[in-house]
Amino acid sequence: MELPLRPELRGLSPYGAPQLDVPVLLNVNENPYAPPPSVVDAMAAAVRKAAEGLNRYPDRDFVGLRTDLANYLAHEAHADFLRHENIWAANGSNEVILHLHQAFAGPGRVALSFDPTYSMYPEYSRDSFTTYVTLPRRDDFAIDVEAAVAEIAERRPTLVLLASPNNPTGTALPLYDAAAIARAAADVPGGCVVVIDEAYAEFRRRGVPSAITLLPENPNLAVTRTMSKAFALAGGRLGYLAASPAIVDALRIVRLPYHLSAVTQAIARAALVHARELQAQVDEIRAERDETVRWLRDQGYTVADTDANFALFGPFGDRERVFRDMLERGVLIRVVGPEGWLRVSIGTPQEMARFRAALTEVTA
Ligand SMILES: *Cc1c(COP(=O)(O)O)cnc(C)c1O
Repeated sequence: MELPLRPELRGLSPYGAPQLDVPVLLNVNENPYAPPPSVVDAMAAAVRKAAEGLNRYPDRDFVGLRTDLANYLAHEAHADFLRHENIWAANGSNEVILHLHQAFAGPGRVALSFDPTYSMYPEYSRDSFTTYVTLPRRDDFAIDVEAAVAEIAERRPTLVLLASPNNPTGTALPLYDAAAIARAAADVPGGCVVVIDEAYAEFRRRGVPSAITLLPENPNLAVTRTMSKAFALAGGRLGYLAASPAIVDALRIVRLPYHLSAVTQAIARAALVHARELQAQVDEIRAERDETVRWLRDQGYTVADTDANFALFGPFGDRERVFRDMLERGVLIRVVGPEGWLRVSIGTPQEMARFRAALTEVTA
């Protein structure tokens, strides 16, 4: 049977890292610490309560959850100016960023990003019929702001995508660079929305601010966050953003009706009540990250400075071989980024000890 698959999708495979059953999983930047039993109980009770009303559609505007998220950011990002009108959420920040494309990109329009970066960005463009344009990052993976500002003036994108800390490099974007790019975007005739993807924000080093502080002066800025990483809730699928109410209202037009299930809303709200317990090991993960970077540099590797819960390191003549030999020893890492580099997520101290032992063995 012939299927009328769109020509540009022919021969493509679905995006995603291998999901393998191995002892040490360090490939998709999850939090290695499962929710503690007290939080599991709270989430189970919240789901039980939600189940009593599952014959009805959920609150389509999820005002309760958006209020809780605004309160969380007020504390986490010193952003007490946020109200529920500033918040949007969906099934992972992946869906939030897709909503941004559906509302602000599209045929004949350009989305601009900076390589190497998150490999989903070109897929959102493909799926929204947008032209995806990239500028190269500098050798240290920082953004060349002058080049970015010039490109924005010249290409007039309607969407600019900046991951900070960036995946797969870990690079944070300085606030004055984010502000300069938002100002350049504000000058684009017809408008341009700048998206700062802060999926890893809670892991940033001390003194590195969140772009959320730029929101009051920049109504064309949207900062996305997720509960998948620091909140240890990757399986819960809850991503969100903070932006001006005008941006949020535009996203409400393109979302599917009732896209956030009552169960998802209940789990996310219970998790926010227990944010402190769920993030209890974030400081530990940051310390383990800094320790891992130090160790890798001691071994002679180049390691990108990282504000996330992973590290990009290299160079390797044959990174595929190193990846396979690590996997044979029960340690799953990620082949991603420019040729010659590998990425490792930060796990527990025991997992990182196995990572170090395996890497030492396979490169002996
Ligand atoms: C992990 C990640 C996300 C989050 O994805 P979710 O859909 O929220 O699980 C978003 N952006 C980047 C750059 C990521 O690495």
